Amino acid sequence: MARTVLLTALLALVSCIPAPAAASCGLPCTIDGVLGSKLSPLASIVHSTLAAPRWSEYDAPTPGTVVNVGTEEDVQTTVQYCNDHNISFLAQGGGNGWGDTFTLGNQGLIINLRGIRNIEFNADKTAVTIQGGTIIRELVAAAYGNSTQVSTGNCNCIGVLGSTLGGGYGRLMGLYGMSVDNLLSMNVVTAHGDAITITPGDQDLWWALRGAGANFGIVTSATMRAYPVPQAQNGAWLGPLIFTPDQIPALVTAINGLTLTGQMSIFMYFTTAGPPDYTPTVIAIPFYLGPPNEGEAAFASIFAVGPVSNMTAFTPYDQLNEGSESFCVAGGRKPSYAAGVAQLDPHAWVTIYDKYVDFLKTPGVQNTTVLMEYYPSPRADAFNVASSSYAFRSSIKMNAIVNTAYVDSSLDPVAESFGSSVRNLWRSSSGLPQNDTYINYANGDEPLVSIYGDNVPRLQQLKQQYDPSNRFNQWFPLY
Ligand SMILES: Cc1cc2nc3c(=O)[nH]c(=O)nc-3n(C[C@H](O)[C@H](O)[C@H](O)COP(=O)(O)OP(=O)(O)OC[C@H]3O[C@@H](n4cnc5c(N)ncnc54)[C@H](O)[C@@H]3O)c2cc1C
Repeated sequence: MARTVLLTALLALVSCIPAPAAASCGLPCTIDGVLGSKLSPLASIVHSTLAAPRWSEYDAPTPGTVVNVGTEEDVQTTVQYCNDHNISFLAQGGGNGWGDTFTLGNQGLIINLRGIRNIEFNADKTAVTIQGGTIIRELVAAAYGNSTQVSTGNCNCIGVLGSTLGGGYGRLMGLYGMSVDNLLSMNVVTAHGDAITITPGDQDLWWALRGAGANFGIVTSATMRAYPVPQAQNGAWLGPLIFTPDQIPALVTAINGLTLTGQMSIFMYFTTAGPPDYTPTVIAIPFYLGPPNEGEAAFASIFAVGPVSNMTAFTPYDQLNEGSESFCVAGGRKPSYAAGVAQLDPHAWVTIYDKYVDFLKTPGVQNTTVLMEYYPSPRADAFNVASSSYAFRSSIKMNAIVNTAYVDSSLDPVAESFGSSVRNLWRSSSGLPQNDTYINYANGDEPLVSIYGDNVPRLQQLKQQYDPSNRFNQWFPLY
């Protein structure tokens, strides 16, 4: 029904009719008539970029067509259609990918996966199968309802698989490993349009998909480990601690000195207090997967710095991501820059704060945020660095990110200059021999070795084998 309504509206818009008259109105009508007739009744085809909104509109794909799939089979059908007609395509999950490697123009097609988002737990709640368009909000809610935890990222709006296929950083990785370590199997549509199931036995693709996934297929559903936890205990202690700017050196030094156990993680933000004054603010958010007294003890060195405000509290698992909802707001321009680091340099962070305050004087950029994430690695480290194509398990200790935010495209140059200069400061003080950068946080201007590390040759060789026509070429493409 939805497809019928959309098609009708669309056809009125472009003043043409489907299949028989397709030749008279070009590509859109051919797609509507030919591909549309092969899709499930739940699917729809829309010829507007607005049909697949994205977190950032900066260098975003501008497809002429969006196929809203209704079933996993629709994904395969669409890929086959695109292959037959030499149409470029891109899968979209949560639409949060900020890398600027997209080249999909108006002859291209987005396969919007948001229509497929079923979530199903097995009987003993040790595994969960999710469809390709599931976002973290949906998985977290279902996991809590089933008295389990799942290793996901920390923002509700992001695609579970979009984040997982690059590695998947999150607060539970210290106990359970990165998201990629928790995959048990994946149903994948390949570059040839085949629908196959990939398990650890499929050595090459199993390895390549878990770290460089967007280059090797569209995962229509995947099964991941789930960890049963009684609902009353299913939560964690976390919350904002506010510091004054003069405390930055002490705060950074204290964070740098922390050795995180599996239950711990900590973020630091330079953000603003919001309208009307947008006062720059320094916030740390400690997290402890356990009761408040244990959390406070674990982060005693952070409390010793003397936060001026403490809003930490025990919080149910399904509300742990609430504090980051403001980051999830879609739309506007958000060129972003990141660096993996092995240490935090207090002097660099003081300079970055000063630059941040200066940048905020530009009208319209006040939602810009600078942040640092320090996750625990005990469980993730138990996985050999060669176990997946995520390359930086043993080098990146913390991720530092600047997310600029504004609406007016004339601010692009000043935002780019600010973001890259902050990244330079991180790179020059990272303690790493190379500019290792987590793919899901990278900008897109990095060389491949910064994204895939030593795995570039093997990934390129597998790419030749499994995607010789380079159909998956939009997300930090290997060629
Ligand atoms: C607000 C915010 C918070 C974030 N928090 C975290 C975090 O806590 N941890 C973390 O690790 N990352 C985090 N990220 C980064 C995030 O992992 C990446 O942006 C990721 O690419 C988003 O996936 P998506 O599906 O939402 O985006 P999309 O733009 O839809 O997808 C990104 C890429 O992945 C591909 N893709 C998506 N789904 C599939 C699929 N099913 N099969 C094959 N390819 C697919 C797309 O084709 C695209 O190339 C965050 C990003 C934002 C904007």
